[in-house]
Amino acid sequence: LVEVAGLAKAFGAVAVLRDVAFTVPSGSVTVLIGPSGSGKTTVLRCLNALETADAGTVRIGEVQLDYAARPGKRDLTRLRAQSAMVFQAHNLFPHLSVLRNVTEGPVVAHGKPRAEAEEQAHALLESVGLGGKADQHPYQLSGGQQQRVGIARALALEPELLLFDEPTSALDPELVGEVLGVMKDLADAGRTMLVVTHEMRFARSVADQVLFMDGGVVVERGEPEAVLTDPREARTRTFLKRVL
Ligand code: ATP
Repeated sequence: LVEVAGLAKAFGAVAVLRDVAFTVPSGSVTVLIGPSGSGKTTVLRCLNALETADAGTVRIGEVQLDYAARPGKRDLTRLRAQSAMVFQAHNLFPHLSVLRNVTEGPVVAHGKPRAEAEEQAHALLESVGLGGKADQHPYQLSGGQQQRVGIARALALEPELLLFDEPTSALDPELVGEVLGVMKDLADAGRTMLVVTHEMRFARSVADQVLFMDGGVVVERGEPEAVLTDPREARTRTFLKRVL
């Protein structure tokens, strides 16, 4: 279970998150949509403790953190270990092989024995359709393949929660499908996922819940069909008219 309440964050005088609250039930997929600048990326970064919020509580699995209590580095590290992020640009290490890209996190951050990490990485690469690519380098792969390595790397951290920040928006259109396909497989396998995306077809077919954010708050939430087809809020309707 993921529970977020009262999440607030300002950059200088600009309140980017004002009072964000939502839950993601275990084994379900939540898609987060909203206009540019509404705070979607900042929410993901606060869940992953890449950003320190000013106030609010975040609970991911067994770990709860109260940002208002000024958590220390150890608390932030404990929260961070609960989730793994897949970024818009894959951020792979260019000088390392695909296999090493996947094993570095578990070996360096978790102290996993390398042989064990490699065995796990081979299985994960297989599961994202890259079984034969372990010894290649990122530049030898297509953008879609690179992003699938990014997903395998996130899975290698064995997180409670997978965070995706517009994972397909930097890809050529013909490569989007293979990445969304892997994400759908993860959803079908029961992974808990929070996904920022503009792919409304994915939201409709894979999400259990859609959250619409605007101006630093969650304005509307519900099942995809309800939010995307028949939204209650005028702000949601305006946004959807622009993107659909
Ligand atoms: P997009 O779809 O464009 O990525 P978003 O909904 O993810 O938008 P955020 O990236 O969370 O929005 O940004 C929300 C606001 O916070 C924006 O106005 C952005 O300029 C601002 N912001 C984000 N990070 C910082 C930062 N480190 N310093 C100052 N302002 C920031």
